[in-house]
Amino acid sequence: DFLALAVPGVQKLSPYVPGKPVDELARELNLDPAGIVKLASNENPLGPSPRALEAIRAELGDITRYPDGSGYKLKAKLAARFGLDPAQITLGNGSNDILDLVARAWLAPGLNAVFSQYAFAVYPISTQAVGAEGRAVPAKDYGHDLEAMLAAIDANTRVVFVANPNNPTGTWFGPDALESFLSRVPAHVLVVLDEAYIEFTEGGELPNGLDYLARYPNLLVSRTLCKAYGLAGLRVGYSASSAQVADVLNRVRQPFNVNSLALVAACAALDDEAYLAEGRRVNKAGMAQLEAGLAALGLKWIPSRGNFLAVDFGVDAAPINQGLLQRGVIVRPVAGYGMPTFLRVSIGTEAENARFLEALAQVLGRG
Ligand code: PMP
Repeated sequence: DFLALAVPGVQKLSPYVPGKPVDELARELNLDPAGIVKLASNENPLGPSPRALEAIRAELGDITRYPDGSGYKLKAKLAARFGLDPAQITLGNGSNDILDLVARAWLAPGLNAVFSQYAFAVYPISTQAVGAEGRAVPAKDYGHDLEAMLAAIDANTRVVFVANPNNPTGTWFGPDALESFLSRVPAHVLVVLDEAYIEFTEGGELPNGLDYLARYPNLLVSRTLCKAYGLAGLRVGYSASSAQVADVLNRVRQPFNVNSLALVAACAALDDEAYLAEGRRVNKAGMAQLEAGLAALGLKWIPSRGNFLAVDFGVDAAPINQGLLQRGVIVRPVAGYGMPTFLRVSIGTEAENARFLEALAQVLGRG
C-alpha cells in the first residue's frame, strides 16, 4: 500500500481536480469540441497575444537546446518594468512552482504554514508534501481574516500564504489591511502575497504588493503570466522579493524550470499592453453580464475582483454541475474547498457567458 507508505502529510491530501477537459466532454456528448464552453480554470478567453504566438514560432527551431536556465531576458524585463533588481526576481513553471519552491525552502516536519479557509488548493498541497503542518484559519465572509491569521502564527510558522484577490472566492482586501498585516507579521515568517489575478484589478482598490517590498524584507509577491496574460498552457510565473529570499529559492529551483517557449512568450506578452487592456475590458464587461444574468435567475454570488465568480445555489451544487456538463458547459465545482453549494465560473467572452447563463437557466428550470 504505497499510500500508507507516503509521508503522513501526503496521506491526508486529496488530488487536485482540474476542470473536465474539453475533448473528454466533447467525446462523451458526441459534440464537436468547438461546441463546448469551458469556464473552469480562470483562463483568459481572448486566446494568447499574437505577439506571444509570433515569439513562440520564432523559438521553435531552438527547442533541441535547453532553455536559458537563468531566465536572463525575462528577469531583466520584469525588473526594468517594476524598478527592481533582476536578483529580486525568481521564475517559475507557473506561479504554482514558486509556491512549491517556498515550501521546499522553508517548510519541514515540525514547522507550519498559515493560510485561510477557502484558500487556493496548492497551499496545503505544497505544505503537506514536505511534511509541514498547514493551518487553515477560518475565513470571514469567505475572505481572509487577517487578524485571525496573525493570531495563528507561532514560533514554528515559517510561511503565511495570502491571496489577493483570493481564489476560489474572489474576495480581496485593501492597502490599509495589507499594511496593518505586514507590519505585525513576525520577522521569522515569510509572507507569500499571491497576486495571480492582480492584473484584472484597477485603480488602487487593491494594494500593489510590489510597493511594499522595500519596507518588508520578509515579503514575497508571486504573480503569473497564466491568467491575464493568457499563457496558462505554457506554465510561467514569477516572484519578486528581497534578493536574499530569491537567492534561497534559486537554491531549490530545478535548473531549467521554465521552458524556452514560455520564456520568449512571456517577454512578448509583457510588451503587449493592448492585449492586457482588452482582457481587462472583456473581464469587466463579462463580470457585469454574469452578475446581471445571475441576479435575473435569483441567484447569489460572492463579489469578486478576479476573473471568476463563486455562485451560491444554497443547495448541493453537484447536480447543477452535471446539468451544465450535459449542456456542454464546464465550470468548476468547489466542494473540495468546503463550498459544496457553490460552483465557480470563470468570466468568458460575451458569447460564452451567454451560453453559460442560458444553460444554467435550463438546468434550474427557469429557462
Ligand atoms: N494562485 C492562485 C490564487 C491561483 O488561483 C492560481 C491558478 N489557479 C495560481 C496561483 C497558480 O497559477 P499558475 O501556476 O498557473 O501561475
